[in-house]
Amino acid sequence: MEFNITLIPGDGIGPEIVREAVKVLKAVGKKYGHSFNSKEVDMGGCSIDKYGVPLTEEALNTAANSDAVLLGAVGGNVGNSPWYQLPPDKRPEAALLRIRKELGLFANLRPALLYEELAGASPLRKDIADKGFDMLIMRELTGGLYFGKRYTEEVNGKLTAVDTLTYNEDEIRRIAIKAFEAARKRKKHVTGVDKANVLDSSRLWRKVVHEVAADYPDVVCDDMLVDNCAMQIAVNPGFFDVVLTENMFGDILSDEAAAVTGSLGMLPSASLGEGKLGLYEPSHGSAPDIAGKNVANPIATILSAALLLRYSLDLDEEAKAVEEAVKKVLKEGFRTGDIMSEGMKKVSCSEMGDLIYERI
Ligand code: NAD
Repeated sequence: MEFNITLIPGDGIGPEIVREAVKVLKAVGKKYGHSFNSKEVDMGGCSIDKYGVPLTEEALNTAANSDAVLLGAVGGNVGNSPWYQLPPDKRPEAALLRIRKELGLFANLRPALLYEELAGASPLRKDIADKGFDMLIMRELTGGLYFGKRYTEEVNGKLTAVDTLTYNEDEIRRIAIKAFEAARKRKKHVTGVDKANVLDSSRLWRKVVHEVAADYPDVVCDDMLVDNCAMQIAVNPGFFDVVLTENMFGDILSDEAAAVTGSLGMLPSASLGEGKLGLYEPSHGSAPDIAGKNVANPIATILSAALLLRYSLDLDEEAKAVEEAVKKVLKEGFRTGDIMSEGMKKVSCSEMGDLIYERI
């Protein structure tokens, strides 16, 4: 089959890590007989330098008209880059908010998988880490507290701040459907996470999640209060498959889930909208401190390409092949600097890409 992919290398280590992911997509194309036509566009600081804005309409149109978008990272050294002298809406990161909004991406997927070989990097107690875990945090991205009306006013002589948390049933239903669909491609278990003992928005969340669950009898569905979920991620992470939750809870829980893996350079992410188009990017930033040195870990971006194959192109077998190739390389003892440990073989960013390419 033939697919059109928009590539956004971005800033810092972005171009290096995206190059390795493209290499891996080439291997997949070769093995399974697909062609991935790619078009590269600028976004972030490099776009500011060329066009004066972090994202041009042309770049946005290219992304909107493709099957999927693969992004490296944007942004520079916040302390001394001239990009950060610009007003907030003209800075590199403004492009991220704009592209997510324009592409209508309301679901953020962040898998947190503990690789057996990297379990030593996890901050979890050894007996917990040894059991392993593989969860997917499905976070609502465009509603809730972060997008509600907010203001600060003086009430009875005291400064008083108000933030509002609103969800309607359609917003909940569409992300719940994404979660159950994702669960069908995984271990068929969705945990709806809310604060239904206190919040009205959470009671509606839970009600709609249960309605959607009725359409997926093959998927186990349970509920958990967010405070308990935060605790369970630390003491029993193996319980979870898909964690379905609203914007702010998801913001916090996805970082916690990332932290317990202990390896930032390994974590992919996907943002999906109503159709198949999605934006795929590593969970880390542009790492300006190591940019251009060919030492970055490309695995988070390579695994983001695997998510792209699975969720935008429906190529499940191909996605699995990429994930298995990553596991194999780790098992054989190859490591980039950020995940290096005693007795392992240290490799560069491009060597890691080559090793994964060869194993597909
Ligand atoms: P960062 O994730 O870029 O880096 C944090 C630390 O982790 C650094 O020491 C870095 O060298 C290391 N690191 C990150 N990714 C790595 C990889 N693949 N391999 C090896 N080491 C890696 O976070 P930061 O330093 O807070 O931010 C740097 C820039 O990235 C900022 O401009 C920030 O705004 C931007 N940022 C962009 C995104 C995005 O594009 N989605 C996300 C987060 C931060």
